[in-house]
Amino acid sequence: MTDRRRRMHPAPRGLPDAGALSSRPRAVVIGAGIAGLAAATGLAERGIAVDVIEREDYLGGRVGAWTEHHRGVQLAMNRGFHAFFRQYYNLRELLRRVDPQLSMLTPVDDYPLIDGAGRRDSFRGLPRTPPFNALAFALRSPTFRLRDLARIDVRAAAPLAAVSLPDVYHRLDHIDAETFLKSLNFPTAARHLAFEVFSRSFFASPTQLSAAELATMFHIYFLGSSEGLIFDVANANYDTALWQPLQDYLSELEVRFHQGTAVARIERGHTFRVHTDTGDQLDADAVVLATDVAGLQQIVAASPGLGDDLWRARIARLGAAPPFLVHRLWLDRPVAAPRPAFLGTAGHEPLDNISVLDRYERQAARWTRQRGGSVVELHSYAVESAQPKDAMLSRLHQLYPETARAEVVYERVLHRRDCPLFAPGTYAQRPTVATPLPGLALAGDGIRIDLPVALMERAATTGWSAANQTLAQWGLAGHALCTVPTEGRSALLRFFAGRERLSPQ
Ligand SMILES: Cc1cc2nc3c(=O)[nH]c(=O)nc-3n(C[C@H](O)[C@H](O)[C@H](O)COP(=O)(O)OP(=O)(O)OC[C@H]3O[C@@H](n4cnc5c(N)ncnc54)[C@H](O)[C@@H]3O)c2cc1C
Repeated sequence: MTDRRRRMHPAPRGLPDAGALSSRPRAVVIGAGIAGLAAATGLAERGIAVDVIEREDYLGGRVGAWTEHHRGVQLAMNRGFHAFFRQYYNLRELLRRVDPQLSMLTPVDDYPLIDGAGRRDSFRGLPRTPPFNALAFALRSPTFRLRDLARIDVRAAAPLAAVSLPDVYHRLDHIDAETFLKSLNFPTAARHLAFEVFSRSFFASPTQLSAAELATMFHIYFLGSSEGLIFDVANANYDTALWQPLQDYLSELEVRFHQGTAVARIERGHTFRVHTDTGDQLDADAVVLATDVAGLQQIVAASPGLGDDLWRARIARLGAAPPFLVHRLWLDRPVAAPRPAFLGTAGHEPLDNISVLDRYERQAARWTRQRGGSVVELHSYAVESAQPKDAMLSRLHQLYPETARAEVVYERVLHRRDCPLFAPGTYAQRPTVATPLPGLALAGDGIRIDLPVALMERAATTGWSAANQTLAQWGLAGHALCTVPTEGRSALLRFFAGRERLSPQ
């Protein structure tokens, strides 16, 4: 939290605790990913009786973790590498509940990117204040050449540097990220490296992603925040580092967890009646639906009394990003010493990044100490090819040749499709945290909130916000939120962006 221009959003006022009410309200939170856990925390801390229902046996959703067993050895496995950026204020607030110093996170000292021609860019040692971070990055980058930079259409590019929320969606949501970037005359290599990496981190190729979403992301991570692009990672598997401590904290607040239980439907009468796939029913005064998009669509489709037709149609129209692959390998020999903890790749399809877990994760480090090997993870987003796993492995061998000789002691491949898609033109119709039904709120990284947040931070922010809306119905105080500035930092660039909007097309 070093950015003095970060934006505080004060807590809604109200009574400090539900103990002041004539009876203790009950809430059910459905889904125990980051969004659901933030909502449960926000509610339980104000004295609401909370039940959390989670389909999987583990908490954390897409940041969930578990233990695998191989020949009598326990191996830590999870849903894949996650970068915890410093500007994830609301997620960090959640994690501070169990670790005020955030000692469960450890910094990754560089975040190199390599393109198809072998050029390497790095975020290490950049100034943190925009726009000097972007200028220094461009000037020292082998991918940007000065004469290419001179060709950039600065006027058209102004919205990138002067993002304001939600205005950027009104301006750019109708076009896809690829078309927008081409219109700026951005150098092709730079476009592929910087922007494709950004775009694919949203699990979609730039042709499928709203330009507004890309511009917002650029604002959050680069031009709108001075927290920098260097991030932290969990220093142990997510279950032990993050979710078990949070579950213990919430259990102390009398939150009841129902894991390995899916919600089938919700009935709305005088209160809410939540039906699970095990045949149980839970009655509640309020419900927070914090599932992924597919879970939300299934529950709403099976619950005819929930919301009005317009809202139900909006839910039904939400899209999922294409499938992605996480391939973790336990190898019998180490990767070379200079290999970074995390490497982003462009032009090495279908590979998007490589992480070396024994560099930072306690369980992986212990395994490699005992075995003399390494634990490596490969990600491929927006998977199109039929055999991405073999192609990813070939790319690993090409980039880290020492791995070609390594024997695979154990491997685990996750092929999933549970990330939301932010397709061009969908912003206006996307459901928000508030719903037409009093007592029902939505949360999750696919839910619209007009604040500069994305991915895990959008999940946390919508979770806190769903708790705030629910608490307000009982006159209870909410929780403060914090974000990067809600508009571009430079008055000059905002001026140019404003002129660009006024100028004829
Ligand atoms: C491979 C990968 C890498 C990523 N890397 C990053 C990164 O580096 N940085 C970043 O910020 N973000 C990253 N993300 C995105 C991040 O994981 C998500 O934005 C975030 O975890 C979403 O949290 P959520 O609570 O909204 O949803 P989820 O985590 O999906 O939680 C929803 C929960 O609802 C449960 N559920 C669904 N249906 C039901 C039902 N019927 N009943 C009960 N429970 C149900 C699910 O089991 C799940 O636990 C990455 C995602 C992936 C997949």
